[in-house]
Amino acid sequence: MATQPPRGFYDLLPPIASQLHELCDTGLKAMELFGYKLYQTPCVEMASVFDRSLGEDSDIVHKEMFRFQNRKEEWLCLRPEGTAGIARLIATHKLGRELPLKMIYYGPMFRYERPQKGRQRQFHQFGLERLGSSTALSESEVIQSSHAFLKALDLDASCKLEINTLGDDDSREAYKQTLVAYFEPLKEKLSDDSQRRLDTNPLRILDSKAPEDQDIVTNAPKLADSLNEESQSHFKKVLVLLDEMKIPYTINPKLVRGLDYYSHTVFEWTTDKLGTQSAVLAGGRYDKLTKQMGGATLQGIGWAAGLERLMLLKQEINNTKTKTVTDVEPKIGVLILDPKAQGAALRLTSKLRAANKTCEIYEGKANKLSEKAKKRGCTSFIFLGEQEVLDGVATIKTPQQEDKKINL
Ligand code: ATP
Ligand code: MG
Repeated sequence: MATQPPRGFYDLLPPIASQLHELCDTGLKAMELFGYKLYQTPCVEMASVFDRSLGEDSDIVHKEMFRFQNRKEEWLCLRPEGTAGIARLIATHKLGRELPLKMIYYGPMFRYERPQKGRQRQFHQFGLERLGSSTALSESEVIQSSHAFLKALDLDASCKLEINTLGDDDSREAYKQTLVAYFEPLKEKLSDDSQRRLDTNPLRILDSKAPEDQDIVTNAPKLADSLNEESQSHFKKVLVLLDEMKIPYTINPKLVRGLDYYSHTVFEWTTDKLGTQSAVLAGGRYDKLTKQMGGATLQGIGWAAGLERLMLLKQEINNTKTKTVTDVEPKIGVLILDPKAQGAALRLTSKLRAANKTCEIYEGKANKLSEKAKKRGCTSFIFLGEQEVLDGVATIKTPQQEDKKINL
């Protein structure tokens, strides 16, 4: 029998497991202030949900999806990202009569990648989608929400915003032609992946991480020069609104995002504290996704954050483990000195929990109990022996504080 989970998959133990939960909880509360609501899609979808929408040639669809067949020989997959599933959910439930739709999701995602620090085969994302408007205001507000999310986690100062525009369909088509004309004579020097992309989606070559592509990509014509007026003025409006909110950004002309569905504004929050896995949150605008899934045409913009990378970043900053709820909350140890006090201990802890107090029962060798409770983080102690049971009253002892009485 295997004693390890599959490569790239991990058990989550305390304090990481609860940190992950807290991160989602904090994010959820911060985003509810913007009027977003939680939706959840299943971890397994029909593979077709992702194949066309993300692009057959995207890294995810091309090599990172966990695909498998069910007994009917239909192709299913573990979801590699959240947006396509949310678009499918919108089509399934015919959402979109009341706009805008403001949706949050979180949970595990799965990608068949080479595992390394900040890159797993199962990881967690917290994401958000806003559908039903295409204005610069809505785009800026979504970027503002990503900033608010990082701020709620106290990570905004450690990340910086990179932004770019892919323009509208016409601008992108014009740019593709310019790019092909530039790359074609240099084809032999490009990585194998980029050579293939030259035929399928030349824009994606700009996203390449292959060292042999870097110089060629740096000198490539810029998308900004192919933008039509409408796309240019839309992007300018987004930037002006970011300026007004005093959210600093850098325009990164190489930021194209790896998926087919994006248009207009794309953005990433990156950090210089996590080495190569520098992107902690990424997003952008998409216009055709919900229609592709068989629903109404809804323009959308959204983002997703990688929670493991955010936790690594938090650790990097604090250089200590972040405190969990149980570390922070004072914990009461209820120490049983006589087996007759077992019932009283169970009743008492239930009463303490009803008053929102964290508590644990300890039984065993009387002289070892306090030590055991202290080791597990207890800061107050209640000793329960025969006398306490008879009296119906016990004492809460907290070092450096006055004793308190509590009825059993
Ligand atoms: P990268 O360029 O690092 O591969 P990506 O562009 O594939 O990232 P997205 O699809 O935009 O990532 O996903 C959003 C976020 O999810 C990323 O910014 C990152 O924080 C996180 N993420 C993506 N893939 C992984 C992974 N394999 N393990 C852990 N986190 C991940
Ligand atoms: Mg990736």
